[in-house]
Amino acid sequence: MSDPDCLFCKIVAGEIPGTVVREDDRTIAFMDINPATRGHALVIPRTHVPDLWTVSAEDLQACAVAAQDLATRARDRLGAVGVNLLNSSGEAAWQTVFHFHVHVIPRYADDPLRLPWIPHSGDADEIAAAGAALQG
Ligand code: AMP
Ligand code: ZN
Repeated sequence: MSDPDCLFCKIVAGEIPGTVVREDDRTIAFMDINPATRGHALVIPRTHVPDLWTVSAEDLQACAVAAQDLATRARDRLGAVGVNLLNSSGEAAWQTVFHFHVHVIPRYADDPLRLPWIPHSGDADEIAAAGAALQG
């Protein structure tokens, strides 16, 4: 349920401070201390799991619903005109805190945030091959 060495479990337990903005039976959401934009929050399951591969379907669903609710609040209360939901699972994906979390990043017209991903057109055969591997 809980990992004594996990930073986010300590926030769930109230052992370290967090600016909690939403809670329900399965999830808790709090402000990111290094916000990418105004209103950047993190949604986590109360139950400790490290990443997308280990989170239960029920907790994943609850996190998605919480993220949608926070996106709506950011739109209605902060004036956000867009939102990015982001999960990083694994060091290769830049995960730094190994308790599953969904970033809710409100977006504003002309905000300076740039994600480190510059789209380039792909090779059609390679896209098809990767797609074939993922089908079914
Ligand atoms: P990730 O790199 O996807 O694992 O995201 C971890 C996030 O946790 C980063 O955006 C950090 O800014 C954030 N973070 C780290 N420590 C805290 C904390 N004590 N309270 C709130 N957010 C935190
Ligand atoms: Zn944890």
